[in-house]
Formats: sequence, structure tokens, C-alpha cells
Amino acid sequence: MTTEAANGNAGDNGPDSVALCPLAAEVSPERVLLCIYGTGDMGRSLGQRLLQTGYRVVYGSRRPHSCGPLPQGAQVLSHAAAAQSADLVIVCVHRQHYDFLETLAPQLKGKVLVDVSNNRKKNLYPEANAEYLQRLVPGASVVKAFNTVSAWALQNGLTDANRMVYLCGDGAEAKQAVAEMATKLGLGVLDRGSLSAARELEDFPLQLFPEWRLPLRLAVGLTAFFYFYMLTRDVIYAYVEQGKDISFRLVVSMANKVFPIVSLTMLSLCYLPGILAAFLQLYRGTKFRRFPDWLDRWMLCRKQLGLLALCFAFLHVLYTLIIPIRYYVRYKVKDATVVLIRENKTTVFDTTVAWYTDSYLSIGILGFGMYVLLGITSLPAVSNALSWREFSFIQSKLGYLTLLFCTSHTYLYGWNRFLRPSTYKWWTPPGYMLCLAVPSVVLLLKLLLLLPCVDHRLTRIRQGWERPGTKEESEKLLMP
Ligand code: NAP
Repeated sequence: MTTEAANGNAGDNGPDSVALCPLAAEVSPERVLLCIYGTGDMGRSLGQRLLQTGYRVVYGSRRPHSCGPLPQGAQVLSHAAAAQSADLVIVCVHRQHYDFLETLAPQLKGKVLVDVSNNRKKNLYPEANAEYLQRLVPGASVVKAFNTVSAWALQNGLTDANRMVYLCGDGAEAKQAVAEMATKLGLGVLDRGSLSAARELEDFPLQLFPEWRLPLRLAVGLTAFFYFYMLTRDVIYAYVEQGKDISFRLVVSMANKVFPIVSLTMLSLCYLPGILAAFLQLYRGTKFRRFPDWLDRWMLCRKQLGLLALCFAFLHVLYTLIIPIRYYVRYKVKDATVVLIRENKTTVFDTTVAWYTDSYLSIGILGFGMYVLLGITSLPAVSNALSWREFSFIQSKLGYLTLLFCTSHTYLYGWNRFLRPSTYKWWTPPGYMLCLAVPSVVLLLKLLLLLPCVDHRLTRIRQGWERPGTKEESEKLLMP
């Protein structure tokens, strides 16, 4: 409805009057009428969607005559008049302006009040917005809902991340009414219990990539550590011991050494928690005891760890592809050729080196191919099309194979340098040797788990078998 229409109709009927769009006059009386307080972004988007779903909508506004364009078919009234016309009122107003609702308490008595509000920060107020609303209007039944759905998504189409409505409230009937409305809007509903859960719901939209935080910190930490380690071993060592300035290597060579190291370490860290969990189950002789919190959290971020590891592998591939066009490499090749021509010499083709380089490159490419496959299958659009067995086959079996290939790629890269004393500058091993520690341990432990006697016991435990006496132990642990 347009402002002009609102002004026209409202002007005829006094301050509390109905400003009616032409369409609103034609709506059938049996369609449920809902009230929305606030004609801002959220109020308008929600109203438009409710109208499209078949509801009638009446807005309650501070300025019913000049509240701007509203969805076609909506009415606009003063707050008090709007409240009287509907049993369910959706409050699309920021919490700091809620005080006007206290004066409307008599009109809102017995109504369902839906609180959609969010805050800018956590713990901004001593109580949750919905609880505050309930305190202001004790006669109403407040339900917290829709705060995780954005106005933009309501207008432009709901995405998976925006399709779920979490609700909580103390009145079962009130929650039922809101749940029905959300379902009709095409949203999934999850009841989180009484109104005391409102604060938790209000904190949801404030979370910024919660499951990415730990993997990102780890990636940054590992990159910084290995970069500094290489800087000391390569650039500073060359300067101090040989008086050479090779600082130009900081940009490409060192980056291309650090990326695969971080990638391999993070890939192995995806598989380590699963192995630790298996050993814990074997040790406890049961699967019915909770894992420690840190292990739970670690397992929950394996997908993010894997995707970041894949990003680093991509960077390694890209940096490797540019090696032939680097000035330093072209200079070295030209220089070596000129020396050979000048001295009238040829080099002998070494079949062992050819075998070594080809195997090292080939196994790296295969590892990267499988890495990409793992990444693709972790995308929701792909994983949703796979059965659980198919998904776990790819993520587990293919995952370990990827780890094996990438670890072998690194071992082959080291080749015979592991035994060369000159490799250990200032008695420190090169970065790639350091980074082999975690994947090698993971692969060894996995091999142990695959031993038939161990595998058999673990399978039985995972099917519910418990070592005699374990049940009593678990019960004792649960006792206060
Ligand atoms: P908005 O665009 O600023 O609209 C707020 C509306 O509140 C105004 O249009 C106004 O409507 C009313 N209002 C402003 N000051 C008032 C006062 N002093 N007294 C009474 N009413 C007043 O905000 P919004 O984005 O629609 O957000 C509204 C609520 O929805 C907020 O609590 C927000 O946290 C929540 N929410 C928003 C989104 C989103 O994507 N925007 C998503 C989830 C939840 P009238 O001029 O008609 O009175």
C-alpha cells in the first residue's frame, strides 16, 4: 500500500482509523488476520510474505498516515487499534523502543506477542528481549521467534541457512500458533523450550562463523610458525653463514614451502581426532561414555579443517605451476647451460633421479586429485545426494588414502636428503621433515586400528558391546 492511500483513508476516519488498500477490502473474512508492529524492513518483509501465504495483515505504526509504502493488501492502524483487531501480534520494533508496549498492556491482554528482536552485542541487557517484553506486557503470551530469519531472505527467497525458525515461550498454545504460521511460510520450526531459552536464541545471529574459528586460528598459527621457521633456516642462515642475500625467496619459494606443510598438517589433524576417539573407546571398553569436550569440539570442526587444508593445497599447486616462469629459475637454467657449452660438457641422464622426480610429482598430483574429490563431496549440494555409507566411504577411506598419498609425496620430496648432514642447518630439520611427524603418527595409529584383533573389538564396541564392569564404572562416574 502506498503512503498516499494510507493518508487518504486514515484522514477520513480519524487517528485510529483503518488505512485500507483496495486489495485489502476484497480479502475474504475467513482468512486469519495478523498484526505487525513496526513498518521497517522486517515488518514489511514478513508482512509481504504473510500476505502471499494467504493471511491478512494489519500494521500497527506510530505514524499510520505516513509510514511509507507497504505490501499491497495490508492495512495500517495505530498500535492500539491494530492490537484489537488481531489475536497474534508480531513485534518488529527494536528492543530499545519497547516502552510504548507497556501502555498498550490492556489492549494486548490475552494476545500472542511474537518477539523477533536481536541485539547488536551479547549481554547488552540484563534480561533477554523476549523476557523483557513479557515483563512489560504480563497479560500476553510472549513467543520468541523469527529472529534468525533475515528480512532480505524473506523478500528474496529463503536459503538453507535462513529456513529454520527457532522458537521458545511459556505458552504451549501460543507456540503452536506461531509454529503453524512459520510452517505456512515454508519455514522449518524447532521448539527450544520455555522463554528462558530466549537469550540463547538472541545470541544465534551474533555468531560469526563459529565452527570456522578454531580451524582458522590453527591455519594462521601454523602458517606463522612455519614461515618464521623457514625464514630463520633459509634466509637468515644464508645471510649469517654464507653472507648471501636470498631475501627474494620470501615471496614465492618460502610461501610454496609453507603452504604444503600447513596443508598436510591440517589434513592429518582432520583424521587424528577420529583415531583418538577410537583408542579412547578401546581403552574404556564402551561407546556409551562421553568424549572430553575438547575432543568433541575438535571432531565438530573436521570439515572446516579439511576445507582449509584443501585451500592451502590449491595454493601450493598454483605456486608450483609458476616455477618455470620465475626469473630466478630461468636465470639458473640459462647459466647452467652456458657453463656446459663453454666447457663443452654434457650431463649424464640419471634414471634414478627421473624415477624419483616422476614418482614424487605423480603421487602429489594423485593426492591433490583425491583432495579435491574430498572437498567436493563435503559440499552440502553433493553430500545431500549421497547415502550415509557413500559419504563415510569417501570421507574416511578416500580421506586416509589422500593422507597416505600426500605423506608419500612429502617423503619422496625428502628422498635421500633425510640422511644428508647439510640438510640440518643449525641442527634443525627442514620444515617438510617436521610436518611429517603428525601424518606419520596418524597413519601408523590407523594401521594399528586396522589389525584384525583391534578392528574386531572396536567394531563390537561400536555395535553396543561393553567390557564387563564398564557399565558400573560409567554409573559411578555419573554419580555426584
Ligand atoms: P527498522 O527498519 O529500523 O524498523 C523498525 C520499526 O520500528 C520502524 O520502522 C518503526 O515503525 C518502529 N519504531 C521505530 N522507533 C520506534 C519507537 N520509538 N516506538 C515505536 N516504534 C518504533 O528495523 P527492522 O530491521 O525492521 O528490525 C525490527 C526488529 O526486527 C528488530 O528488533 C530487529 O532486531 C529484528 N530483526 C530484523 C531483521 C532484519 O533482517 N531486518 C531480522 C531479524 C530480526 P513505525 O514507524 O511504523 O512505527
